[in-house]
Amino acid sequence: MILLNGRLIRDTILPGLIARFEALPYKPVLAIIQAGDRPDSTAFIAAKKNFAAKLGVEVKHMAVSADISQKELMAIVHECNADNSIHGIIVQLPLPIAIDTDAIIDAIDARKDVDGLTATQVKRWLSGREDAVMSATARGIRTLLKQNSIELFGKKVTVVGRSLLVGKPIIAMCLNENATVTVCHSKTADLASETKRADILIVAAGKPGLITPSHVSPGQIVVDVGISRGADNTLVGDVDFEAVKDSVAAISPVPGGVGPMTVCSLFENLADLCEQWRVQ
Ligand code: NAD
Repeated sequence: MILLNGRLIRDTILPGLIARFEALPYKPVLAIIQAGDRPDSTAFIAAKKNFAAKLGVEVKHMAVSADISQKELMAIVHECNADNSIHGIIVQLPLPIAIDTDAIIDAIDARKDVDGLTATQVKRWLSGREDAVMSATARGIRTLLKQNSIELFGKKVTVVGRSLLVGKPIIAMCLNENATVTVCHSKTADLASETKRADILIVAAGKPGLITPSHVSPGQIVVDVGISRGADNTLVGDVDFEAVKDSVAAISPVPGGVGPMTVCSLFENLADLCEQWRVQ
């Protein structure tokens, strides 16, 4: 079994990424807007800040109260758009329930949209355009597979999960890479029969232990995108790693698989945007 080690791949990408940021004629700044203090959001932001520090990227963490109004939050996004010293903007999701998330996300200038979530960028990655900002998770999975010499071209890929934030960008990425894609979700009648026939199984359901030995087949590549907290507060994926690992050809662990790749790809997106911005 080959371990798809995201930390290792991330560390091999790091020097090239540092060089890309160093080559810019300014210090890149990433604004992260956080409304409220959800511990999971705070942990994800901490991971981004840690990685940014290694890259020489400044993070402007704008933490506001969970009871901020739509108008006030919108004003912060507009300020970040207008501020020429800010090159990328993240609105940490989920936002408080009273906020219209789509309206806030679509207010981000698409040229600063490092998450690839604005309507402009969604249309670009759906179309498979070269200049699209792809979701960092989808980009991270593509790199994780490529760096392990695993081709998506012509392969049967089953994706479990169809959310706009995670599943759909992965589905689009696989289609753009010329895979034949099957999509499973919570209403799929016979999950195991769909997952078993895949060459590459990508799971993004947020349901620990969903994928068991009866869902996989020999020779299969398994990519676990899920991140949940286990009973002892440790991070767990959607795949029962210990039970499945000896029945497949390759598998990504949680933690240490897709997670580190996502953070790394987010900053690759920022580097792309900074370089594009420069030539405009
Ligand atoms: P979500 O709850 O919005 O969507 C879950 C999807 O899984 C839905 O499409 C649903 O239909 C499907 N699903 C749920 N139960 C299922 C079942 N029993 N069988 C088949 N399909 C089922 O969650 P999300 O925002 O898409 O996130 C999914 C997971 O990915 C979460 O664990 C999240 O923490 C994780 N995540 C990981 C990264 C990373 O970098 N590794 C990044 C973002 C999100």
